[in-house]
Amino acid sequence: MNVAPPETSKKYDLGFARWVYENVDGGDKLSMCMQCGMCSGSCPIGTEMDHGPRKIFMMIRAGMKDAVLSSNTMFNCTSCYNCVVRCPRGVPVTYILQDLGRVAQRMGYAEAQKTDNARFAKAFFWSTRLFGRTDERLFTFKYYLSFGIGEAIKKAMANMKLAMSLVKHKRMHIGMPHKIKGTKDLKAILDKAAEIEKGRQGI
Ligand code: SF4
Ligand code: SF4
Repeated sequence: MNVAPPETSKKYDLGFARWVYENVDGGDKLSMCMQCGMCSGSCPIGTEMDHGPRKIFMMIRAGMKDAVLSSNTMFNCTSCYNCVVRCPRGVPVTYILQDLGRVAQRMGYAEAQKTDNARFAKAFFWSTRLFGRTDERLFTFKYYLSFGIGEAIKKAMANMKLAMSLVKHKRMHIGMPHKIKGTKDLKAILDKAAEIEKGRQGI
């Protein structure tokens, strides 16, 4: 359904849960959640999240839209699927978190722009779109640049020894980036996918 998420400046927006149920991937299964905590207890990265998945789902039900969409939970999820395998109610936790991350990103929530993982994902996607593969040198530097030029140089220098070791052991090449054939076609496919995705949630 193409509807905009509820607009609110309130701390609690009870329309948010319904919007998630109807518009987020896997959201239709969210009402099955019985708050057992198996997902959070199984999550290997839970300590790095503002809120574990169980709590995020409770916050959605409580209408805490801003708190949900400004949390780092979605961006620190590694998509390991531990939670999905163990959930006794078949809630597709990973899909829900991934799609909530996309919603936060589109709506311009700061956390979606500035977490390490969000920066890294953008640099990764940039390289994939341009070359059809990841060029470790360029996408790493692109990621560093997201912190500003001064910080990028500092980070690059700090990792120089590691980079030289990778080159020495032929794990990273020097010279022009390798490209796949048909990068133009790949870009067209990715741009079309982005256009469809943008229209899908009406935001
Ligand atoms: S494991 Fe499933 S039912 Fe239990 S809290 Fe997580 S999502 Fe809800
Ligand atoms: S898929 Fe994400 S939320 Fe689920 S257990 Fe793995 S890291 Fe945690």
